[in-house]
Amino acid sequence: MKIKSKFSSIVVGRNVLNQINVEMGKINPSKVCIVTNRTVASFWLDKVVEVIDSDNNLETIEIDDGERYKSLATAGLIWKKLLEKDFTRKSLLIALGGGIVGDIAGFAASTFMRGIDFAQVPTTLLSQVDAGIGGKTGVNFHRKNTVGTFYQPKFVLVDTQFLDTLPKAEFLNGLAEVVKYAIVFDENFFRFLEENAGKVLAKDREIIQKIIERCIAMKVDVVERDEREGGLRRILNFGHTFGHPIEKMSNYRIRHGFAVSIGIMMACSVAEKMIGFEQKKEVENILKKFGLPISTRLERRKIVEETLKDKKAWYGKTVLVLPERIGKVVVREVEQKDLLEAVAG
Ligand code: NAD
Ligand code: MG
Repeated sequence: MKIKSKFSSIVVGRNVLNQINVEMGKINPSKVCIVTNRTVASFWLDKVVEVIDSDNNLETIEIDDGERYKSLATAGLIWKKLLEKDFTRKSLLIALGGGIVGDIAGFAASTFMRGIDFAQVPTTLLSQVDAGIGGKTGVNFHRKNTVGTFYQPKFVLVDTQFLDTLPKAEFLNGLAEVVKYAIVFDENFFRFLEENAGKVLAKDREIIQKIIERCIAMKVDVVERDEREGGLRRILNFGHTFGHPIEKMSNYRIRHGFAVSIGIMMACSVAEKMIGFEQKKEVENILKKFGLPISTRLERRKIVEETLKDKKAWYGKTVLVLPERIGKVVVREVEQKDLLEAVAG
């Protein structure tokens, strides 16, 4: 299925990888380089290389696996390879991997020769529903995602077959973002997830594809209206204002999606106390059904203090995305003392 987007050609489905030549044909690059990491390469690189028409000048780069390699040094390795192989302005860089590969390859593409064409082939659930869409790129420089660009991919091929080799924990990691979309945008979708929870966990192909399509459509809609996060795009940050500090305070032992899951529950508590949100229990139930965590032993006061260091914090107040009801959120600036009270206990 094609998802309409003014920025990128987005194709979702099983085996849509086969359409890569069609998408590349529209760009007609002089050279092509696939950026992936060693893990993804071991499962999928041969297959991808085989599918791509061999008359393309094809290079591949395998970076190391892990957040600490989302660095300027790794971007440097990519730029170096492109220079060595005489890549020009007319070249195409394809990211094959999860959000890390996507972010760094996008960053490298957006800066090499002031910008060469870029495409995403996301391989984790998280990158298929989130990171692969929307054109945010970046690397970690001293802190997470401190240096980056907005740079839209020419095409995004979301092939659900990649999920076959994805470890369970990584699948759950992406599922937390799926629940986030449902609470932020769409009560029907939330009910759909509730009803199909078993099938979701069993990676039922039809259900998973539906979920991915729906999430991408929601993200595309927001990004088209607010590409550079002037306002609206912030609602995608639901669950993240607490999630980020939780991730950080756990020294990243708590994965992003798991931290977001806890963050969603904390935001629901605040919403319950401050704006009369009444569906916290339903949110808790779905997260539990998916095997996602709903609380942490980390100290709540510290988590709240950390929210003030968020990129999105504003003059000593925390900017929070709060649900009014499932499917509808509002953005509020909250004083720290009110926040402490709301999340206490
Ligand atoms: P990831 O890229 O680290 O992938 C998770 C793990 O799964 C890695 O070990 C990877 O090698 C492995 N893997 C990937 N695909 C696989 C497959 N098909 N089979 C088996 N293993 C596979 O993590 P992620 O969760 O995809 O992305 C997280 C990153 O994305 C973070 O750096 C985050 O900042 C970024 N992000 C960016 C955006 C954005 O809008 N640009 C949005 C959300 C997150
Ligand atoms: Mg996230």
